[in-house]
Parts: sequence; structure tokens; C-alpha cells
Amino acid sequence: MLSLRDVSVHYGQLQALRGVSVEVPQSRVVALLGANAAGKSTMLKAISGLCRISAGEIWFEGKRLDDTPCHEVVSKGIAQVPEGRRVFADMSVRDNLLMGAFSRNESEATIVGDLDEIFDLFPILKERRNGQAGFLSGGEQEMLAIGRALMARPRLLLLDEPCQGLSPMMTAEVERIIREMRARDMTIVLVEHNIKLALGVADSIYILETGRVVMQGKPDELSESDYVQRVYLAG
Ligand code: ATP
Repeated sequence: MLSLRDVSVHYGQLQALRGVSVEVPQSRVVALLGANAAGKSTMLKAISGLCRISAGEIWFEGKRLDDTPCHEVVSKGIAQVPEGRRVFADMSVRDNLLMGAFSRNESEATIVGDLDEIFDLFPILKERRNGQAGFLSGGEQEMLAIGRALMARPRLLLLDEPCQGLSPMMTAEVERIIREMRARDMTIVLVEHNIKLALGVADSIYILETGRVVMQGKPDELSESDYVQRVYLAG
């Protein structure tokens, strides 16, 4: 569904991605793992058109994506949940969700119907639908950010560290949501520091170090590798 081929990204003199190739099959969860500054968020930004690539190609559903301006990427079926959630704090939960449907040219009835689906998936958002988004907890704001992205009806969802700063209970809830979305045929690229979460939900994992893919494989292959044991699972 999505293919990054030898992609490089520069920020001025700094090269953040160095010839990275990643394959994301339809209805699968692909996790990107790596230390700080490895280039994970840059990879998501390259997919969503928020930064331009300096070499390589990005393909989505059989078409070149890397020459698409970021405001058109959503209408192609890709939505990103940014690191740090960035909900509209002064707006209600319901209005935040409706903002996600902004680019859709559909009837109000269809969009309100989709709101009900989001409330099924996130009962807590239904409970708080008229409350101000800024008063939600971190975990609830993450649910809202995911729900808002789903309101764009994407076929590919980009999740940037959804469990950052969340309690184990909320992390488990995010894990449940990712499984549920996958069961509903969503394709997901998940950036994570939490290897246990990635091993638990991903179909395949890519490990990045200083802008390069240093390892890739299925969770059971990676969890047995010396590298992952030593760098991520020791202790
Ligand atoms: P983290 O886990 O800390 O979020 P990451 O793997 O997502 O890290 P990136 O945010 O992609 O890493 O950053 C990769 C490199 O690019 C880092 O050295 C970072 O400082 C640099 N970088 C990221 N964004 C910019 C920018 N807008 N301008 C200049 N340099 C940047």
C-alpha cells in the first residue's frame, strides 16, 4: 500500500534520513522503532508531505506521493496523529472530532453517522463529547487525536508515539484501539519508543538508527535477535 524507496531527507546540512526503504502492506501495522533523533518522526513527515524528500521515492496505492503538497495528502487517504496530540484545547470534544472531517465533501448526516462510529470505538469520548478538550487527561486527548484523524476516513493512519507519557492502563487502552482499528482493516504506521507495545501490535517492525534502517522483521524474529535483546529488552 505504501512504499518508501531509498528515501533521504535533509534539514539544511543535517541528513535525517539516509536512503530508507520501508514497505507497508494493506491492513497491517508497521512499527518504526529507534532512539531519539533516529529519524522516525521525519519519516512520518515525509509521508504526510510536511517535509520534502531530497532523494528516493514514496508510493501510495500505486501512485507517486512525494510530489503531493501536504494539504492534499489527507484527501488521498492518509491521516496523521501528531506527536503530543495537539487537540484544539478550547473546543469541545465533538467539535474537535468534526474538525477531522473538514476536508470531506459529504453530507452532514454521513459525517454525524461517522461520529457515532468513533463514539463506539472510544466510549470515553462519547461521555465527554460536550466537554472542553483541554480538560481531558493525556490518554483521553490521545483518544481524541486518533478519533479526529479517523474522522477524515483515512485508509492509512500515521501514529506518532501515541503512548508517550501515558500510564500503563492508558497504554493498554491505546493498544486495544490499535488492534480494533486493524481488525477493521485500517493500515497503520506506528512510531514508538515502547518496544513491548510494538512487539504486541505490529505485523512488522523497522528499527532506525541515525537515519538508517538497521534491522527489520516480524516481532517474533526481532524479539529473539541479540541486538533487540541487548538494546531494547535488557533489564
Ligand atoms: P524522537 O524519538 O526524539 O521524536 P525521531 O526519531 O522522531 O526522534 P526526528 O524528529 O525525525 O527523530 O529527528 C531526526 C533528526 O532531525 C534529529 O537530529 C533532529 O534534531 C533533526 N530535525 C528534526 N526536525 C528538524 C527541523 N525541523 N529542523 C532541523 N532539524 C530537524
